[in-house]
Amino acid sequence: MNIKVLGAHNCERQDQKLVSLLVDGVLAIDAGSLTSSLSLEEQRKIRAVLLTHQHYDHVRDIPALAMNLFLGGAATRIYSIPAALDVLAGNLLNDEIYPDFRQKPEHNPTLKFTIIEPHKAELIEGYTVLAVPVRHGVPTVGYQVTSGDGKSVFYTGDTGPGLAECWRRVSPQLLIIEVTSSDKYAEWAGESGHLAPSLLKQELISFQKVNGYLPRVVTVHMNPDLEEEIAVEVAAVAKELGCSITLAYEGMEISI
Ligand SMILES: [Zn+2]
Ligand SMILES: [Zn+2]
Repeated sequence: MNIKVLGAHNCERQDQKLVSLLVDGVLAIDAGSLTSSLSLEEQRKIRAVLLTHQHYDHVRDIPALAMNLFLGGAATRIYSIPAALDVLAGNLLNDEIYPDFRQKPEHNPTLKFTIIEPHKAELIEGYTVLAVPVRHGVPTVGYQVTSGDGKSVFYTGDTGPGLAECWRRVSPQLLIIEVTSSDKYAEWAGESGHLAPSLLKQELISFQKVNGYLPRVVTVHMNPDLEEEIAVEVAAVAKELGCSITLAYEGMEISI
């Protein structure tokens, strides 16, 4: 399985993009930087997009992707929980801010919305996809994606601390987890449904307790202004726990 990090941050700058992952070129997870990172040809290869939650930085490129696909006569499926699909349809695809590509063109709509139920594994484009609720200010799920050869990645989406229940449901080789802020703002992070390195450490200890091992860890959703501090603090956590933790960056490719 090849995972490409299209966007690794929580704020956009010239060289930093909002979170999006692309699995084997066909399965996208979150949509913060799908159109700005991919050629038209690459966008047309996306067979499905999994959305973790409704926040703008995670759904933003769905309308832009839809317009590109519509103009080229292509289509894709958008999977998420009802809250995220409702907010997306009601606010970004409402025929006011942009067309409702769920109805357009009439006979083969560009976007097909599909509700995904937490804790129920689904076969999507040849991958087994399991949505697992995490802890954020709005309903949010992380996704474990497992390929036919048994390789699996779990991406948390945005989450705060308290993932013990989640760890009981997943056992990936690769964990892509959010670390939004440095420890200077750990209290704010925890309260607002995000993680800082010290909170990440607690979650990894919890993962190990439940699963008996630590996976390779890659962090995303970093605040660009805090990234240098996050890198130093995350390196200390990795050393302490004796595991590999890497900060993601735009264009990073991970093979598992
Ligand atoms: Zn969020
Ligand atoms: Zn976010």
